[in-house]
Amino acid sequence: MEKTPHPDIPEIWRWLSEVPDPEIPVISLTDLGIIREVAWREDTLVVTVTPTYSGCPATTIINLDIEKALRDRGIEKLRLERRLSPPWTTDWLTEEGREKLRAYGIAPPIDGTNADGRLAGRVSRLMNGSNLTIACPRCGSAATEKISQFGSTPCKASYRCTDCLEPFDYFKCI
Ligand SMILES: [Zn+2]
Repeated sequence: MEKTPHPDIPEIWRWLSEVPDPEIPVISLTDLGIIREVAWREDTLVVTVTPTYSGCPATTIINLDIEKALRDRGIEKLRLERRLSPPWTTDWLTEEGREKLRAYGIAPPIDGTNADGRLAGRVSRLMNGSNLTIACPRCGSAATEKISQFGSTPCKASYRCTDCLEPFDYFKCI
């Protein structure tokens, strides 16, 4: 019996790499690293997604965007699965994604920090104590100050560069 050919998996990853993050549209969902798996199970395409953090209001929008992107390409049977473990961390952002953030004026998260509660707590204490330097994404200066714990979205903090005086967002490590 002949089966309808499915679009192959690398092709589907390419499509997903064109779906922008609803909060920071300069990076895609694959740059963000939240798409964990794409697989055919029988005739159903299963896309496994790890939300950036539970309660992030963008999660619902992200799921709808994935569905729309795939349906527009003719995928009829589709299932989105949520994988909460291991939790997403900013370490999953791709190099390309970090470059795009910088080019857009958002300081990418600092390496080595992750979603682990203890570490995040420690990092956030360090940040409050100004021991953690967030470099200005525009001029690279380390002379920056935090204006607000929350930027344009809860995932970001607002900073200002005291050299070039530009305000910028820092993508918080979670
Ligand atoms: Zn600057």
